[in-house]
Order: sequence, then C-alpha cells, then structure tokens
Amino acid sequence: MKTIVEPKKYIVNLWGKQRIKETDVYRLMRYVLRVDHEGKVLLHNAVTGQLAELSREEAAMLEKLPAVYDPVMEQLAAGHFLVREGFDEYKSVHQLRRIYKSRFTGKAITHYVILPTTFCNAHCFYCYESDHPRVQMTEETAGKLIDYIDEHRQGKRISINWFGGEPLVGLRRIDQISQGLMDREIPFASAMISNGYLFDEEIVERSRELWKLQRVQITLDGTEDTYNRVKAYADVQDNPYQRVLRNIDLLSGKGIHVKIRLNADVYNQDEIRKLIEELGERYSGQSHVTVYLNTLFDGQGYQPVHHSYDDILALMDFNADCTERLKEMKLHFDDIKYPYLSFSQCMADNPHAVMIQPDGSFCRCEHESIHDRYGSLEEGVTDPGKLDRWNETMEPSDICPECPIYPACYHLRHCMNNGLPCIERFRVSALEKQKEQILSMYGNGMEADVE
Ligand code: SF4
Ligand code: SF4
Repeated sequence: MKTIVEPKKYIVNLWGKQRIKETDVYRLMRYVLRVDHEGKVLLHNAVTGQLAELSREEAAMLEKLPAVYDPVMEQLAAGHFLVREGFDEYKSVHQLRRIYKSRFTGKAITHYVILPTTFCNAHCFYCYESDHPRVQMTEETAGKLIDYIDEHRQGKRISINWFGGEPLVGLRRIDQISQGLMDREIPFASAMISNGYLFDEEIVERSRELWKLQRVQITLDGTEDTYNRVKAYADVQDNPYQRVLRNIDLLSGKGIHVKIRLNADVYNQDEIRKLIEELGERYSGQSHVTVYLNTLFDGQGYQPVHHSYDDILALMDFNADCTERLKEMKLHFDDIKYPYLSFSQCMADNPHAVMIQPDGSFCRCEHESIHDRYGSLEEGVTDPGKLDRWNETMEPSDICPECPIYPACYHLRHCMNNGLPCIERFRVSALEKQKEQILSMYGNGMEADVE
C-alpha cells in the first residue's frame, strides 16, 4: 500500500491503531470509498482522511472480503480501511467526535464574524435581514471589541469576516478595529461579504493595507437591468452594475480574491446563463476572480422561496450545467473540501468562533442573529443553553449511517440550510464530488494541501 495523502495525525491519535487478530474475519470499513482509476485501485478513508493506492495483491484481496486475516491485510487493517466483522464504525465516529470536542478544543477565540452595521445601501427584495433593526456599531463598542479579541486569542492569529447589513456602511468601525489590532501587533487577516458598490480606489487600497482583506464575496442577481432593479440602491447617481464590475476589477487588480455569487432560482435561469457568458468574457482565467452558483432552495433564509420537488430537481440540474460551463471558462470557485471526520459544520458550532452584532452582543448564526443572542462584550456569556443548542446534530436521511461519506457530512439540527431531506440525487452528487476531490489529490500527490 502506498499512502498518497497522510491521515490526520490527531484523528489517528484519538482512534489508535487497530489490534489485528489472526482469527478474526475482516471486511471493508463502511466509510471507505473505492475509486478505480487508470488500472489502479485507490481507497479513501473518510474518517482519517488517508488516501492509499493498493498493490496488486491488496486489490485482489479486496475481491475476497469478508475474509479471515491474511498478512496482505496488515497495512490496510492498521489504517482502519479494513475492520473486523462486528465492528461498529458509526458508533466510533460519534465517540471520536465526543472525545475530540471534550478534550481538544481549547478556549482561544480566533474567528470573528463582525457586523459593524446592520444598515445597507441596497434593498434586495429577498433579504432575510429586511425586518432587522438598523444599528451602527459605536466607537466605544469597537474599542471594547478590540480588548475582547486581545484577551481571548491566547497568542494566536485571528481571522475576521466583515458582514452586515453592508459592512462598508460601517467603514469607520472597520478602520478603527483594524488599526486597533495593528497597534497591538495582533496578527490577523480578513474577508468580507459585501454588495461591492461602495468600494473605490482609495478604499480598495486601504482594505488591502489596513484591513488585511484577502477575500470578498459579492452577489450578482442578474445582468445589468435586472441587477440594478433587484438591488434598488439608495441615492445612486451612476450605473450600479457597471460600478460593481469596476470595483471587482479594482479588488482583483490588487490581488484580493473576489468570489462572485450568482443567486439562481427557477425564474431567472436564462438571465443567469447570460450573466455567466458575460462574466466569462470579462474574467475567464483570471486567478483572483471566481464564480459560483447559489441555488435558492427552500429554507435558505430567503423569502418567499418555496419549491416543488420537481423544481428542486430542475434547479440541481441547472446548477450542475452552469458549474460545468464555469469550469470550462476556468472561473469556477471550487468549494469541494478534502473529506475526513468533521467536528463542526460552521461558525455556529465552532467553539473558536463568535459573531459580534453592532451593539456588541454575541450570536452564532447569521440567520438567527436577532433571536440568538447569548451574551455580550460587556457581560460575557449569559445564556450557555443557547450555545448548547447549536451543538445538536441531525441526520437528514435514514441511510446516513451507511453512507460512505457520513464522517465528513455534518449537519446541525437548527441550521435552516439543513431543511431538505437528502434525496438520492444529493447523495450521488456528494459522492461524485468526493471522487473528484480524491482524484485531484491523487494527481497532486503528497504535496497537496489538505488542511
Ligand atoms: S446527508 Fe446524504 S450525503 Fe450526507 S451522509 Fe447522509 S445520506 Fe450521505
Ligand atoms: S447554522 Fe446554518 S445558516 Fe447558520 S451560520 Fe451555520 S450554515 Fe449558516
């Protein structure tokens, strides 16, 4: 057996080495995916992340499983690719998660989602924040936030995601917090979710130098006329669509990665296809601009979006078609993650993350910010029960325990994005993505970055 991608050390340390008994019967572990590629047999272990290329003898042995121990099984059994009959890998996954979360997470808070404001200069009809109160962060609250970051990072580097409202409406607080971190020599980098309209040359320069901005996500809802109508910006003198494209050029020209998100629904598919072609002409092959499709399924926080089962299937096909086209144009944002045992879904259950509202209160999920406050910069954590709620998980299908990618597929019970059951099409597409990732790692070999 040749290891192509090493297993995660901390998972191996938790799981230990499998003790082999010569009298036991062995079978393939349920969470191992086999990929046959150009005459080679590859096995990926979705718990440890190890990717192995089998020798001819090992590949032949696979065909005879389940089978009594044979020395040719040695390495595969040690790496938990093979387990003895009667082993419960589903239970093991749960145990590993529990042990990891109780022993190894530490107390440092290193990832911040900060809302300098909930005001926005656009008025998108689908915005889930449209009924939220409008609040600007004060200079005093921003000062307390700098202290909080300094006190809770435990010497570690921090990352910030600026969010809103439109974060650029709270520009002064972004300046203040970034300057405060620099003055205290706290290493940090930032990303932003923005509509992109308020950038100009000077702000782009500042965002690179002062805010340490590395990535911006900007949503386009359609081509020029549609975009300008949907965004309905307040007080504009110019053409917002053209201005946002110019700003994407400015940002990417300074090496800041722009991830363009296209909101697709059953009603705007022609428009999205046209937009993809336009973006292809403008950005194809540029390393700092990528595009991805966000399909507006039910329960994703946009209102009012309710789809029939047929609509959902049609949207999946549409998404797959557009993704192919984006790949052809070398524009596609590849969000496939190399799979191994996951311990959290997002910032909501990440013990090292916190979302800070403009009034200094803490919450964990951008879609539940109003009802989900569990403390504040002044009081610390006041409602630990709300934090615990975000640790509850769910399995979207009865067959999850049997699914080869189960260890890497993690769903929070209270996440509104997890409203859809995992129908066969989702599963097949998730498996295809995993195979794609495995083959790309196989191509890149041991040097690939799997962190
Ligand atoms: S949600 Fe679907 S893809 Fe994920 S483990 Fe369950 S069945 Fe598999
Ligand atoms: S819980 Fe769901 S909706 Fe909330 S931040 Fe996480 S992924 Fe987003």
